[in-house]
Amino acid sequence: MSDYIQELNEGQRAAVLYNDGPSLVIAGAGSGKTRVLTYKIAYLLENGYRPWDILALTFTNKAAREMKERIARQVGAERARHLWMGTFHSIFLRILHAEAAQIGFTPKFTVYDTADSKSLLRSIIKEMGLDEKVYKPGTVQARISNAKNHLVSPAGYANNKEAYESDSAAKMPAIRDIYRRYWERCRQADAMDFDDLLFYTFLLFRDCPEVLARYRSQFRYILVDEYQDTNFAQHSIVLQLAKEHQHVCVVGDDAQSIYSFRGADIDNILYFTKVYPGTKVFKLEQNYRSTQTIVSAANSLIEKNQRQIRKEVFSEKDKGEPIGVYQAYSDVEEGDIVINKIAELRRQENYAYSDFAILYRTNAQSRVFEEAMRKRSMPYRIYGGLSFYQRKEIKDVIAYFRLTVNPNDEEAFKRIINYPARGIGDTTVNKITAAATSHNVSLWTVLCEPLTYGVNINKGTAGKLQDFRCLIAGFIESVAEKNAYELGTEIIRQSGIIADVCQDNSPENLSRKENIEELANGMSDFCAQRLEEGNANTTLSDFLSEVSLLTDQDSDKDGDDEKITLMTVHSAKGLEFKNVFVVGMEENLFPSGMAGDSPRALEEERRLFYVAITRAEDHCFLTYAKSRYRYGKMEFGNPSRFLKDIDVRFLKLPQDAGLVRKVDEHAASFRRENRENFVSAMYGKRDGGARPRQEIIAPTVPRNLKRVTPSMGTASAASHSSAAAGGNAVLPGQFIEHERFGLGEVLKVEGEGDNAKATIRFKNAGDKQLLLRFARFKVI
Ligand code: ATP
Ligand code: MG
Repeated sequence: MSDYIQELNEGQRAAVLYNDGPSLVIAGAGSGKTRVLTYKIAYLLENGYRPWDILALTFTNKAAREMKERIARQVGAERARHLWMGTFHSIFLRILHAEAAQIGFTPKFTVYDTADSKSLLRSIIKEMGLDEKVYKPGTVQARISNAKNHLVSPAGYANNKEAYESDSAAKMPAIRDIYRRYWERCRQADAMDFDDLLFYTFLLFRDCPEVLARYRSQFRYILVDEYQDTNFAQHSIVLQLAKEHQHVCVVGDDAQSIYSFRGADIDNILYFTKVYPGTKVFKLEQNYRSTQTIVSAANSLIEKNQRQIRKEVFSEKDKGEPIGVYQAYSDVEEGDIVINKIAELRRQENYAYSDFAILYRTNAQSRVFEEAMRKRSMPYRIYGGLSFYQRKEIKDVIAYFRLTVNPNDEEAFKRIINYPARGIGDTTVNKITAAATSHNVSLWTVLCEPLTYGVNINKGTAGKLQDFRCLIAGFIESVAEKNAYELGTEIIRQSGIIADVCQDNSPENLSRKENIEELANGMSDFCAQRLEEGNANTTLSDFLSEVSLLTDQDSDKDGDDEKITLMTVHSAKGLEFKNVFVVGMEENLFPSGMAGDSPRALEEERRLFYVAITRAEDHCFLTYAKSRYRYGKMEFGNPSRFLKDIDVRFLKLPQDAGLVRKVDEHAASFRRENRENFVSAMYGKRDGGARPRQEIIAPTVPRNLKRVTPSMGTASAASHSSAAAGGNAVLPGQFIEHERFGLGEVLKVEGEGDNAKATIRFKNAGDKQLLLRFARFKVI
């Protein structure tokens, strides 16, 4: 039996070794569910399964990457690389790209993000002459999304009065027509929204039996993490694939189901054994993550929920300290309390900054912590907020990329037809849209031949449209010839975007320019990385596939990252930290005011709180503020009802309000006395004192990749990679330091000249095979 199997307890081992039929691992937080999945995959690989036989679905890209790295360490990078492992959306996107023609799309279809789909809905609502106050685009979007997650098509929607005409729908009788038009318009634009990635996969498998048969026989084993957060569509697709062979293993915890607002259905896990008769159920009871006190506190909290599978969870780690509860007078003071506590723990127990996480219910809460940390020059990283790819200037550039790859993309077209301003007004765009709708063709088709489609425009406008068409057509011609970086920077320059943001030196424009440069850097690195992995040509289309599904939860932790983590509780699912602060424990904030008095919603908020507490390994703290600046005004709040749900034996409650002040006074003196030491420890001696090292992460600049080109337009990907790579002659046994993967040992060198490859075992990134020609490392 392989060594790693010994690293499992009895229950975990039984779950890993059982592979005769469907299995369900249902267990509390920190009990090793994800570990079971990871080890099971390694075990399958060592017992006759090939990497591409295995489909492993995770909740975030980050989780998939971490699992892959872990498996790579056990069975080698090469085998791990070929696993089909990723989020539902990313795996299905890959399948849909390959099978697009079967369902009437081209392989280059665009993925509309939430903002694109909302904008399209807004246009449709307008075109139909409906009142936007009644048909709020956000509400309509949520209803359509809900329908898709329940696999209800526009035709089904029309026939399903009871289920889909609730009160609000009754007030919005046209919603079915909006849905139908929206559906058609997406198809016209060769575009899918996020929900379509699930829905069309289901339809593909339902309507193309030979395709289903192919994937069924390919994916001989299917594994799913965080099954409690799957929705009906995801559950149904897994069933389509697993029904025949029944080699399916899902793991989850009903107590951590926190995505019902996105259609997740806890019943999927509760009724798993009914859907897959003969399922073997494994329960794990030992928590390996947290102290006994944290585990007991979390148990006492979740017991208050009615709807749950009772589970015993215990820890054999230290008893640990009670969970500290802190009261602050204001949100600003809350920030200080947390920061002081972090400083204190670092001094007393030698923790690194990366051992701390501050978790909150809403993104807006991060601001006061940022400010507090900036003042104290503490390094931190925020996950979430406005993602890099949601920024206006980045969306503009990406819209050019999208139109280049898929000229039928309606939302991209509308976004840039007159940006930068080229004198094409709304009237013209409306005429084009109307012609496209009435002839059932895309906006681009009309643009190419406006007269054929009866668009009545003057000569001047016709000329401007023609110029725009030539601009994009020029880019389209280059798609096959140039790599993503070369074409991307060309587009940024020739479209006029860079000139537009360089018009003046206002701080806004400077920051836009920096962001665009950052995007170009990301593209350059993306191409370089793919070259290193042996992909000679990385097209713009490859780049778009890479970025179209990134979300704020996917930002990666750099291996050597010495930063405090700030994130929402939702994003923290599945992660663990030595010390966790759950902040903003107030009524109307946590639980969210949106939960109202609904018992179901309150139970979900309680589960969310359970998720928060169970992220902590050594220490957990809860804080609340008596007053808080929200929605532009001061609000006074009460402590969260959830604080009372935790058995008081596991809490250390605030003695008196004066305590907070004392902590603060102590902080102020600490700040004065230690400032100098702190600054020199962090940055070395410097003139002018500390410089804040804050980083608001652009979560999704292609992951983890280091910046290489200082400013755009000066270097090509190819030239910088060869410069960076240099003469990389290595021998087995040598140690190297790689720009991105860090320290590693050379295991093997194969091939000659341009084809020379080295297999390197990285300390933190597992085994990787790199083409020496492009690899960026130095021998140490
Ligand atoms: P969550 O519900 O939060 O997703 P989980 O059940 O998936 O948690 P894991 O993340 O797999 O739990 O494991 C929690 C921690 O305990 C990890 O650090 C993991 O490495 C460790 N762990 C799990 N099983 C064992 C074991 N048998 N021996 C030692 N450590 C273990
Ligand atoms: Mg897990």
